[in-house]
Amino acid sequence: MDDCIFCKIIRKEIPKEFSFESDTLVAFPDINPSADIHILIVPREHIGGIADLNESHGKLLTEIYKAVNQLVKSNNLQDDLYRVVVNGGKAQHVPHLHFHLLGGQWKKMV
Ligand code: AMP
Ligand code: ZN
Repeated sequence: MDDCIFCKIIRKEIPKEFSFESDTLVAFPDINPSADIHILIVPREHIGGIADLNESHGKLLTEIYKAVNQLVKSNNLQDDLYRVVVNGGKAQHVPHLHFHLLGGQWKKMV
């Protein structure tokens, strides 16, 4: 999508250091963190949101949870507090599916 901010980050039109990268996913820190650790896990494919997911995305969703687990370990969150949040509808501000990994002290709603 031409003017989607996350597509621009994925295409490297906006410089961003990735915390995790694979053929199908990227992950990077949220620019306005809601917790001590706040990482966004984002599919490279432009999927608008949860409502656009279907059976064909089964493998991708497994990969997302594998990436989450990897990031939990690399940030030493396994014995700390962590949450995974996906916003939808009016709670979603960037219309490109993403999973928020929130770790440590949660400061505000995402
Ligand atoms: P949501 O409300 O679930 O769509 O969340 C979008 C998230 O993207 C927010 O937490 C924003 O702070 C974050 N965000 C927006 N633009 C950027 C950016 N350029 N780099 C990193 N995070 C961003
Ligand atoms: Zn996009």
